[in-house]
Amino acid sequence: MKALVLRGSNNIFQVRIINNNEETECRIKGKVLKEAEGLYNPLAPGDIVECENGLITALEKRRNCFARFNQKGKSVQILAANVDLVLCMTTPASPPFRPRFIDRLLMEADYAKIPAAVICNKYDINKDDIDVEHRLKDFERIGLPVLRISAITGEGLEDIRKLISGKLTVISGQSGVGKSTLINAIIPGLDLRTGRINEKYSRGNHTTIQSCLYELEEGGALIDTPGIRRFAPERVKPEELILYMREFAPFAGQCSFGHSCLHITEPGCKILKAVEEGKIHKDRYESFLRIRDDMENT
Ligand code: GDP
Ligand code: ZN
Repeated sequence: MKALVLRGSNNIFQVRIINNNEETECRIKGKVLKEAEGLYNPLAPGDIVECENGLITALEKRRNCFARFNQKGKSVQILAANVDLVLCMTTPASPPFRPRFIDRLLMEADYAKIPAAVICNKYDINKDDIDVEHRLKDFERIGLPVLRISAITGEGLEDIRKLISGKLTVISGQSGVGKSTLINAIIPGLDLRTGRINEKYSRGNHTTIQSCLYELEEGGALIDTPGIRRFAPERVKPEELILYMREFAPFAGQCSFGHSCLHITEPGCKILKAVEEGKIHKDRYESFLRIRDDMENT
């Protein structure tokens, strides 16, 4: 029987059997799935598996996966599979606006070829900050949907509902931006704990940080992901990074030094020219340099 993975840790997974809609607990048969070798975690929310009598016997090929680098396990951790949309969540304040973090999330989404949107939550506070608005406008300019919302007052929630309807949507963002509050607002009765940074993902004494899938009544689901400190850069070569930053990508290979250009001081560099001409925002260029530095220094 085919089943959708909702969540799980250790070797116990909560799944939804697709045929009869039943929710049940499953274990991996023989503890190893040959389709998931070399990964930090064999299964993630959104995976489709084959199961029989409480045992998971096979994993269906993933359409895509949203991942991060797991520092402790020193390997790629799949946060969600078969994703239709990534919501990159930030705030104008409390915690402070961190567009560079959004740039990293967007890079991971672009790398995974998953459509993304920027959600600026807590728009009930500090919404007149011109620096915040300036940067949000740039996300719009490079083709991303940007929603300004408040999970507390309900502002913009209808737009989110429309955006996520029928989709498997990942919500990602720093701790404290309001991911749980938003999920609670969208799925009444769920009642996730909010405001407790770093505690929410602990499961007993086993503190695997994992994602969780919550189904929507109208079809589709939301997947809450743990904070992301590091992406999975070993899958990308530093010189390929510009392919995964959408407004940089058209310039790939166009510099005088071609693909070997570092885009720092080289004459005939098309990236530097684009920054000068405002086709690439200087903050995004700064993010690019920092992400590449991280990749080179690991
Ligand atoms: P998470 O770590 O991303 O899941 O964040 P939480 O949902 O736990 O929210 C962190 C804190 O921000 C909580 O105290 C929430 O009440 C508060 N919060 C969430 N959304 C909003 C909002 O739209 N406006 C304001 N002012 N506070 C919010
Ligand atoms: Zn260049």
